[in-house]
Amino acid sequence: MIPDPEFESVLVWFRRDLRIDDHAALSAATRRARRVHCAFVFDRDILDALPDRDDRRVAFVHASVVELERELRRAGGALHTPHASARAEIPALAARLGVQAVFANRDYEPCARERDAEVERALARDSRALHSFKDQAVFDRDELTTAQGRPYSVYTPYRNAWLRRLSPEDLAPRAALLRGRLASDQGAAGLPTLAGLGFAQASLAGTGVTPGASGARAALDDFASRIDAYRDARDFPALDGSSRLSAHLRFGTVSIRVAAGLAWRTMQADPAAAEGAGAWLDELIWRDFWFQILHHHPRVVEHAFRPEYDRIRWSGDDARWLAWREGRTGYPLVDAAMTQLERTGWMHNRLRMVAASFLVKDLGVDWRLGERHFARKLLDFDLAANNGNWQWTASTGCDAQPWFRIFNPVTQSLKFDADGRFIRRWLPQLAKLPGRAIHAPWRAAPPALAAAGVRLGVDYPLPAVDHETARAETLARYAALRRPRDAPATK
Ligand SMILES: Cc1cc2nc3c(=O)[nH]c(=O)nc-3n(C[C@H](O)[C@H](O)[C@H](O)COP(=O)(O)OP(=O)(O)OC[C@H]3O[C@@H](n4cnc5c(N)ncnc54)[C@H](O)[C@@H]3O)c2cc1C
Repeated sequence: MIPDPEFESVLVWFRRDLRIDDHAALSAATRRARRVHCAFVFDRDILDALPDRDDRRVAFVHASVVELERELRRAGGALHTPHASARAEIPALAARLGVQAVFANRDYEPCARERDAEVERALARDSRALHSFKDQAVFDRDELTTAQGRPYSVYTPYRNAWLRRLSPEDLAPRAALLRGRLASDQGAAGLPTLAGLGFAQASLAGTGVTPGASGARAALDDFASRIDAYRDARDFPALDGSSRLSAHLRFGTVSIRVAAGLAWRTMQADPAAAEGAGAWLDELIWRDFWFQILHHHPRVVEHAFRPEYDRIRWSGDDARWLAWREGRTGYPLVDAAMTQLERTGWMHNRLRMVAASFLVKDLGVDWRLGERHFARKLLDFDLAANNGNWQWTASTGCDAQPWFRIFNPVTQSLKFDADGRFIRRWLPQLAKLPGRAIHAPWRAAPPALAAAGVRLGVDYPLPAVDHETARAETLARYAALRRPRDAPATK
């Protein structure tokens, strides 16, 4: 039985939840109000600050909003899509529509929380409320805490608590009662074009990602057919081993409940696929983990999670930083990864770790510069995950990679791209190098280089640093700050 609605009308404010299926705020709104208006703001505060006018994220969001608007119209509703500052526009729209409340799904990023607090205050001045809902995460804020009631800062106990707490209700779809509840506002038409927003149509073709909830459904269906192989395939960048759902999870064209539900059901129902599905669920739990870290420790946006690491004296100069950004470090796996990022807006997870580690621990560049570069380029950029993973790699974060563990970029290459398929794809100038030479061209014999048409320093750079020397410098840099309990075990 559905109780009588408590509100005459409310406004659902879409943000990073661009779908109508399994949407917590929309579901609650259609159950608690007689009439539901919908809005997505092309927020000038976000868009105007973006440095690139051909940003792929804007193209992804725009295409996804076009689909959302169509879906809402098909269900009898409408979508307001102003191009304005959301801080001012949402209270103004709420007033124009005469709604009693605004419903939105929670965001954990400090800027978004500050924006929502401002909107809440403006709404309150007109006796309206902002109701927020958990939707991005399976568990959020203080739902999982240690026995002492503190937020977790170590992943494994967090994961164990997450799995212990999980019940069918946590993954149940938040269904909406769309028919008869959605307001078909006439004034809502007129979705701005990308050009109208001040952006060029960035190509999503090379990303392998189709925007919108329909794109997410197709990607999920595709991944469901290979989830069994995830655990074994996910570390090899030349394989199609991971889900490629990150942009969809970022912008909410698929819900986390649907994704985690797929993993959970597969684990229960299909013993042959349980390991793959379990490994994938683990990654989704990492995503929740970083949300709660950012929520409880917003200072990580600018600072090391462990304050002593804010004192690291970085040695990397502009030349090294540019070489990394432009894929010219002379280490093929790193350069291929950076080329993939530049051309597609996505980078394989193993390579994100290798490239990030190389910047910080081989080139001696502050992790924050690398983090910002990823933030600018990644289609799936998510502050919580990006910051958490950069700090993990740089050993400055909670539950991070120990500072004395340093990826060897050649060993990683030999292990995860053994036949050099990934490198050859992104660095065609090295394609003819045989065998192991592709992983470290500077070690190749001159005749092999000549036969492959590679002139080092001309067709492909010499290494920006010697890994062993850089490693020793990094160990000294971190050791200078270390506390006794962090020291590596002696033989
Ligand atoms: C330095 C660095 C920066 C990163 N920056 C981001 C980022 O900005 N946005 C982002 O979504 N992921 C980030 N990741 C995590 C991970 O690399 C990507 O989520 C993954 O590569 C996306 O591809 P996929 O969807 O095929 O992943 P899958 O392997 O299929 O994983 C499924 C989903 O789980 C989540 N996930 C996977 N790994 C992680 C992780 N380590 N931490 C948090 N969530 C995870 C993502 O939502 C992903 O879509 C980063 C990792 C590193 C090492």
